[in-house]
Amino acid sequence: MRILIAIVGLVILAACNSAVPTYVYPTPVDTDSKSVELLEGRVFVTMAGVTATSDFPGARLGAFKAAGPRTTNGVGGFFVADIPPENQPINQSPWYAFGLNAIDDREVTIRLRFPEGVGNRYLPKTAKSLSGPWTYVPFDRVDTVGNTMDVKLKLSKDWLYVAGQEVISTDSIHQWITGLPESAKPSIDTIGKSTLGRPIWGLDLSRGAKDKRPTVVLLGRQHPPEVTGFQAFQAFYTRLLGDDPLAVSFRQNYRILAVPVVNPDGVDEGHWRHNAGGIDLNRDWAYYRQPEVRAVVKWLTTETKKDQVVWGLDFHSTQYDVLYTHDPARVDFRNATLVQAWTDQLGEWAATMFMDASDQPQFTALGRPLVVGQDTLRIEPDVIGKPTAASWFVEHYKAIGITYEVGDEQERSYIREKAIKAAELFMEGLNGL
Ligand SMILES: [Zn+2]
Repeated sequence: MRILIAIVGLVILAACNSAVPTYVYPTPVDTDSKSVELLEGRVFVTMAGVTATSDFPGARLGAFKAAGPRTTNGVGGFFVADIPPENQPINQSPWYAFGLNAIDDREVTIRLRFPEGVGNRYLPKTAKSLSGPWTYVPFDRVDTVGNTMDVKLKLSKDWLYVAGQEVISTDSIHQWITGLPESAKPSIDTIGKSTLGRPIWGLDLSRGAKDKRPTVVLLGRQHPPEVTGFQAFQAFYTRLLGDDPLAVSFRQNYRILAVPVVNPDGVDEGHWRHNAGGIDLNRDWAYYRQPEVRAVVKWLTTETKKDQVVWGLDFHSTQYDVLYTHDPARVDFRNATLVQAWTDQLGEWAATMFMDASDQPQFTALGRPLVVGQDTLRIEPDVIGKPTAASWFVEHYKAIGITYEVGDEQERSYIREKAIKAAELFMEGLNGL
């Protein structure tokens, strides 16, 4: 016990010695580590001829078993899949991802069972391969009641993957970042390790170390299942790397730092929201108690001076498209008129994209419901409250801090289109400073 205390003492001492300043937020959050339930990748073979697998990065399936009623030929047609969170309490965003096959072609009903009191968030999608393409399960084949969701599926000998969103794990993200165009390729540094030892990548598009030009910062995947936010991150970041005059002059004026996956354990372990320390990382930007946030903050504060970062963007997903900004009347940060113009222009553009929204049918051809409020962009300026990354950009740098939220079921092509437009307006605004 004494040794343990000594080690803890050392860690605290080391933390105090670091030059990274901490901040007191009006709404503090306890981010001391908690224990989580890590699920082994498993293959669940049932006696009823259907097999499930969670043996891939990003999977989440706690248990899988056949249940009644049986179909007329005696072959099991009803199965229960338990979807546990990594730990509780946790926000109600159950992430599920698993593969299924059967010994013969058949139709089955899979009941996804979430913990008591937790309803579904993500509409189920299927793919024959984890790399996609993913398509919505038609709406009339999904029945959500309380903490369960029944999904009717046609199975065969080939794997069919079922998930809340496209499965985008760290290996495919690593492929993406290493395959970025040579003309504007960032250096890829391992800036730290996650709780379970996975690398955290920092992408730096600069003129080498100690590049003192004004800097912009992009963050992604603090919340693992928020895949639409990551799709926006990819499109936005890629647009900054373009070889057209706008992007080229932007990169002459600005340094670009990015962390595509702040929470690699959460992504690959199939977590609903937290890291492997059982913590919502987007509440840890006060004292950096989790190694992932500590690594990002240490990297950013080592690479940049306090007045160097002008704009930080943190990409997320929620029920609808919204940009969380800070109210310049109540929060002190630089370039408030710039962010005002950016949100105005992007909001106007989004409105023109959906002028005919009211004429659209209630359901699309795929049977996907059009969610009211999903198709326009909300702008919500706020004060500093919880220790989020966006607020940390304001607290530490007096920079613009944005939480860029994308609707969970927003059209994928529109997500990219809007992120490209957002990046162009962003570069135009910053080039004009
Ligand atoms: Zn989020």
